[in-house]
Amino acid sequence: MLKMIELPYPLNALEPYYSAKTLELHYKILYKGYVDNTNKTEEKLQKAREMKDFTNIKCLEKDLSFFDSGAILHELFFENLGPAIPTEPNLELMTQIIKDFGNYENFKSQFSEASKTVEASGWGILAWVPKWNKLEILQCEKHQNLTLWGCVPILVIDMWEHSYYLQYYTERAEYIKAFWNIVNWNVVNKRFKELKK
Ligand code: MN
Repeated sequence: MLKMIELPYPLNALEPYYSAKTLELHYKILYKGYVDNTNKTEEKLQKAREMKDFTNIKCLEKDLSFFDSGAILHELFFENLGPAIPTEPNLELMTQIIKDFGNYENFKSQFSEASKTVEASGWGILAWVPKWNKLEILQCEKHQNLTLWGCVPILVIDMWEHSYYLQYYTERAEYIKAFWNIVNWNVVNKRFKELKK
């Protein structure tokens, strides 16, 4: 069961930059909806596994991505805000920002422009890419687009046609069945272990 985080500050703590009323609605209604619906979706998925009935799997996976990503991103958002007492990146983070963006001003400009130009609903995101050891700024247009922000893949299967078509033609299920015979779980185990540290 996913639980809502406590706001790490009072509702009026971000005034005048972010009003108490805005924060209250955002936290108590919008964010709560994401958390509640994530839990409902997880229950439905559990039921589907128990019944071995995956008829609605596409719908459930969509709901999971939408609600769970929403819950995670709101948690990150509320937690990365705080009362208007000036703070700045520490030496470690600043060094990385300078390495990846040239300087702090360049970073702020790119983050601001990227966030400003997100199409419709979405997020501006500063993210760490563990695979490349680097910071990147991302636009997230629709957080429900079948990802779960903040997750790190540990096992993947390429479902682009180039990956199977020559051998399996349209038989996707056959390709997936074959895949299970060639997974190297030692590698997946190691990835999981490193993440759990
Ligand atoms: Mn929101």
